[in-house]
Amino acid sequence: MHESCAVFGVYAHSEDVARLTFFGLFALQHRGQESSGIATADGKKISVYAGMGRVANVFSEDSLSHLGGHIAIGHNRYSTAGSSRAGNAQPILVGRGSNTIAIAHNGNIINARYLYEELAEQGYTFRSTTDTEVIANLILSSTEKDFVDRVRYAMRRLQGAYSLVLMTNRGLYAVRDHFGVRPLCLGSIDGGWVIASESCALDHIGASFIREVEPGEIVAITENGLESYQEKSDKKGLCIFEFIYFARPDSVINGRLIHLARQAMGAGLAQEYPVDADLVMGVPDSATAAGIGYARESGIPLAEGLIKNRYVGRTFIEPDQRIRDLGVKLKFNPLPQMLDGKRLVVVDDSIVRGTTTPSVVKILKRAGAKEVHMRICAPPLRHPCFFGVDMATRQELIAAQKNITEIRDFIGADSLGYLSIPGLIKAVALPKDTFCMACFTGDYPIPVQLEMDKLALETLAAGRQG
Ligand code: SF4
Repeated sequence: MHESCAVFGVYAHSEDVARLTFFGLFALQHRGQESSGIATADGKKISVYAGMGRVANVFSEDSLSHLGGHIAIGHNRYSTAGSSRAGNAQPILVGRGSNTIAIAHNGNIINARYLYEELAEQGYTFRSTTDTEVIANLILSSTEKDFVDRVRYAMRRLQGAYSLVLMTNRGLYAVRDHFGVRPLCLGSIDGGWVIASESCALDHIGASFIREVEPGEIVAITENGLESYQEKSDKKGLCIFEFIYFARPDSVINGRLIHLARQAMGAGLAQEYPVDADLVMGVPDSATAAGIGYARESGIPLAEGLIKNRYVGRTFIEPDQRIRDLGVKLKFNPLPQMLDGKRLVVVDDSIVRGTTTPSVVKILKRAGAKEVHMRICAPPLRHPCFFGVDMATRQELIAAQKNITEIRDFIGADSLGYLSIPGLIKAVALPKDTFCMACFTGDYPIPVQLEMDKLALETLAAGRQG
């Protein structure tokens, strides 16, 4: 039961909240393309519309026009586990009558199976295979009267990553886990409030960024206005891959523009791994900014050598290996006239399984490149992620199985350089203890590491889809 998705929420009496949520989800499409959904509330009842596919395919004028009210939440799902089916699309509606809530989740609950069994024993039923429904039923199972206290109860029981938007028929709630693994921010619009996974979604709908939702914070927006409740948060663990790959370059997280952080990663690579070359290029789109940074720092001219078909999707987040393999070939077309006889520095965001990079090198060499020097923004990935990022099991991670020279040979590059962890921290320009970097270091910021043996963790990761 795992998720890695986009969430969005609006509370505004003077706005078409369903339409704003549609555009918010549209801006966050990069975080999940398997299904999309919106729930709205008008003070009396909650309505939901969700379906398989991208935002533009799921919603129509007709479906949006049936979603009335002044509160909305929305979700784009990428399935890391839980089967790929319409029943797992979010927001999920749980409960009965005035005790109904809608919920949308980005993250991964590590103790979901344990909680599921406990709730099932108490008579709670489940319609989906997502940990999101576990969170919703856990909230409803609380004997507290006040809704915020019920959320607090759930937060005490949940282990793992969750950035949530929740809705009753009267209120909108934003909740972020104690580590703040996945981003979540707060904005304002026309006397109302907006919650989004990333700030770029606020920009697109004309909302103003107010601040991050803090790790361990519950933001409650009701007729009483906005109230904040802060739970204890001892250790922060924002996923550093938001800066390397996930977030859009025009998003700002913890005050740092993602585009500038990626440029600085490229500059750091130029300092750590200089090489004689004719051209620098970033693999589009996620390493475009890092390519600019490398070129500026090294003085080697920047070039475009690969054109990306932007409508194929992101290979890293395609849930199936067969589609992933096909995706690499469909995704990039080289420009031989730019590449012929050239020594290239090629900057990319990461090497995970090592399935994409050899194809990129091959495409460039077939197009005439004389040398290909790969430079990678993410340090070697040697440990699996248990916070909902579906990268691979330890056995599948190439850097867990091979040393740098072996990886260089495997991908067919003339040289290979990974940005160091200090280099990455310098580029992100935020304190090191802000971040989770467990996939580089194996140091998971979660107590579960102490409670579960290594084998159990591996089994958990192996149970993921894709
Ligand atoms: S383990 Fe890696 S991918 Fe997972 S949350 Fe931590 S930094 Fe992100």
